Amino acid sequence: MASSEARRPRGFLQSADPPMWLRGPARIEGEWLVLDRASAESYLPLTTPKQVMLFALAACKTRRQMVDFASRFGLLTHGPSAPELREAVAEFETAAKELDVWLRLTNALRGAMKGDKRQAELLRLMMNHFSNIFQAPPASDEELQMQMSKLIAWSVSHQLRDTTMRIDAACDYDVPNNQPGVFMFNAHPPNLLGWIYHELAQVLVMRSSPMAMCADPECGRMFVPEDARQRFCQPSCANRARFRRWKTSKVNGAKTTEASSKKRSRHGKATRKR
Ligand SMILES: [Zn+2]
Repeated sequence: MASSEARRPRGFLQSADPPMWLRGPARIEGEWLVLDRASAESYLPLTTPKQVMLFALAACKTRRQMVDFASRFGLLTHGPSAPELREAVAEFETAAKELDVWLRLTNALRGAMKGDKRQAELLRLMMNHFSNIFQAPPASDEELQMQMSKLIAWSVSHQLRDTTMRIDAACDYDVPNNQPGVFMFNAHPPNLLGWIYHELAQVLVMRSSPMAMCADPECGRMFVPEDARQRFCQPSCANRARFRRWKTSKVNGAKTTEASSKKRSRHGKATRKR
């Protein structure tokens, strides 16, 4: 005991600080997403409102959106201890796409369980991509749902493999009630992507946590609806859908008028013949 204490450097507990991450002005340089270290700020991803990072990453499609994401939350796997604050755009893109797939699968699974035929069909189509990981294709809808549940659980767990669970002293954190004697049961992921998969894991276990796919086919983004009736992720998607409906009804209206005027003229000719 005495000898191990002698070996232990003074102040070693300082290294058990909360896991911080870096965010700030970002840019694209060639095929790289780069964070400017000089102006980056250190922050605690733990204090980000729940699921915000999760849905923001899944929605990243363009380079502009990636830059916005990195400015708000940081790079995915390059944080304070990385020698260089940059990561390949292609890697970021793959991570965003993969996450989006898990959200869509979860949404389709939930829909199929509730008897939504469209979501059940989507689930079947998506399962075709993973057909070789089970010994036999699902023989029924129920088996399909079971296979999909296992697939989601296994894949998300794989992404959590380097995350450890820890007891933290609340006084180390900028949280309410951060007094001595108050403890927190926290996940400590190795990087931001780990935090995001931890958020996904929470969504999975809380079956009531809302999620939906934007009803605007041009968008189709996954989002958290504020109430059960919200169908679009943002007002611009609702406006675009309304405009499309109006345009379609105008075209259809014009066709109907054209058709009835043709009818009238045919009728007219017939009258003249008689
Ligand atoms: Zn949308």
